[in-house]
Amino acid sequence: MSELYFKTTQMRISLPLLKQNINIIKKEIEPKILLGVVKANATGHDILSISNILIDEGINRLAVTTVEEGVFLREKGIDVPILVLGSALPNQAKEIVNYNLTTTISAEALLSEVSKLAVQTNKTVSVHLKLDTGLHRYGILPEDIIAFCEEWYYAPNIKWEGIYSHFSNADIADWYTTDEQFNTFNHVVNELSALGFTFQIKHIGGTAVVFRKKYHLDMVRVGIGLFGYPPIDDENFKKLKPVLTIASQIVQIKNISKGTPIGYGGNYITSRDEKIALIPLGHSNGYKRGYAKEGYALVNGKKAKIVGAISLDQALLNVTDIEDVSVGDEVVVLGYQGDQHLSANELANWIDSSSDEVLGSWSDRLLRVIVDQ
Ligand SMILES: *Cc1c(COP(=O)(O)O)cnc(C)c1O
Repeated sequence: MSELYFKTTQMRISLPLLKQNINIIKKEIEPKILLGVVKANATGHDILSISNILIDEGINRLAVTTVEEGVFLREKGIDVPILVLGSALPNQAKEIVNYNLTTTISAEALLSEVSKLAVQTNKTVSVHLKLDTGLHRYGILPEDIIAFCEEWYYAPNIKWEGIYSHFSNADIADWYTTDEQFNTFNHVVNELSALGFTFQIKHIGGTAVVFRKKYHLDMVRVGIGLFGYPPIDDENFKKLKPVLTIASQIVQIKNISKGTPIGYGGNYITSRDEKIALIPLGHSNGYKRGYAKEGYALVNGKKAKIVGAISLDQALLNVTDIEDVSVGDEVVVLGYQGDQHLSANELANWIDSSSDEVLGSWSDRLLRVIVDQ
């Protein structure tokens, strides 16, 4: 981890809220398996501490995107099954086998390499077969999957633990397309099963289907919902609460007279005498330049507009109308301050993006801390 932490800005993860989200989701999914998706540094929240908390709360399977993330968790002592969701390259087979990672199979090259190394080391490697039902990212197309199984299902030292697919449109609540993909998946699974190609764990959904049991199958792969940001705005999801707060501090305050350009390029000009606060957080840490257009932060529970261009490591806020502002005061750029909450969805709206982009973009230079409130 980085020695170069910004001491002035913290990413606080609320342990009680995280536990609450985990338990609400768990209750919906059990007795089916809840797979905790901790890819992309647990969507920015810190992969290691989140993984440990999930395990403490009784989640005993995790998923990541890359082999590297899987190796990182193993080296830190995480010993539950870890499914690598992304497609690894054949030259990563050695790490998959050595670190006992469960890999997704979307092509024969990786499978053949994993099987070969598993034989050499006298191990059995669990794998999940991926079917492409319409996202057209990873996975084998339905028309190719029977031939694939005929050729590869009996590869030595391979345990076909699971088969899965991933919805393309569930996150926008397009249940028509989702059902088409679901039907394709079930149809293919049945066809394979009739030919003797069976898989213990069948799975297809993420956070979007937590409250739609029909799509649960044997396992649900939940990522962003754990952090309180469901992709769809459904009544049930209101029970989940965002867990992250990013708090910086004011390092300087200046009174600037009316008509003065401020920041790089001077594209903001004070419209009256203004009180401007500087915070040590910029776009290199994930405070994106685009936020400056419409965005604000919370200071003393009030909105302070971002003014001027956000720099690499700094940003400026207009605190003219906020009373009793001093150097050292807390500035919340995302999350909770008093009874206010600045949501990642709101930051996403400022830049025409999504909450997962907002959450996943904070740099390693920001210290993540787990807090008890
Ligand atoms: C990211 C991802 C998930 C988790 O999705 P959420 O919407 O974050 O719950 C599940 N499966 C796959 C294949 C993914 O890439």
